[in-house]
Amino acid sequence: MNILIFGPNGSGKGTQGAVVQKKYGVPHIETGVIFRENIKRGTELGKQAKEFIDRGELVPDGITVPMILNRLREADCKNGWLLDGFPRNLAQAEALGTALAEAGITLDYVIVILLDREIAKKRIMGRRLCAVDNNHPNNIYIDAIKPVLKEGKMVCRVCGSDKLTARADDQDEAAIDKRHGIYYDTQTGTLAAVNYFKQRVKVLEVDGTPGVKEVSESLLKMLS
Ligand code: AMP
Repeated sequence: MNILIFGPNGSGKGTQGAVVQKKYGVPHIETGVIFRENIKRGTELGKQAKEFIDRGELVPDGITVPMILNRLREADCKNGWLLDGFPRNLAQAEALGTALAEAGITLDYVIVILLDREIAKKRIMGRRLCAVDNNHPNNIYIDAIKPVLKEGKMVCRVCGSDKLTARADDQDEAAIDKRHGIYYDTQTGTLAAVNYFKQRVKVLEVDGTPGVKEVSESLLKMLS
């Protein structure tokens, strides 16, 4: 099962991706997570990527495209993958489309989470990351996934960890606007990448406005 998932930053793409990952048991490959892990470990890739990420810009295709195409060639991807955060522009979509065609790999699903830009922005600013598990959703602006208050401190609503942090690039409004500018750009940005696949495969669109649970229910209904 080979799946692409798209959605603006703040649409719950990572959370819904985890639901899809669980359903099919394929590796959930998140470009942003790979970059952040490299930054944490102080690798050369992390050093190269950091300045772009901090500014809300895309890491250059010359770094990102080979990184993802190589990741898809790893042994755990043999029976499929869920790709999240890639492709993010038209050039990446074309590179992926070509690489898949050359390898004789077909896409089973392309999922797009639809969300209004202003709502997405508010959701990003409320997002909190759990140090124990990146897939424990917490957001101070969304009632369904609000962190729990324990002894005056906000803790993860899933595991109770008090190590909840906000990503630096999530608190920077200019950086968020820049990231959304890239996503909603239908000429060369992420929506252009979505349109590239729309011409080739059936794209499943799900409304990301309701709560996390409702969105996953609608999504699971669309997937066989
Ligand atoms: P995310 O966790 O998906 O919000 O990604 C965080 C940051 O990583 C983005 O703002 C970009 O700077 C970088 N990034 C993630 N995916 C890509 C990609 N496909 N191409 C280039 N940069 C990316």
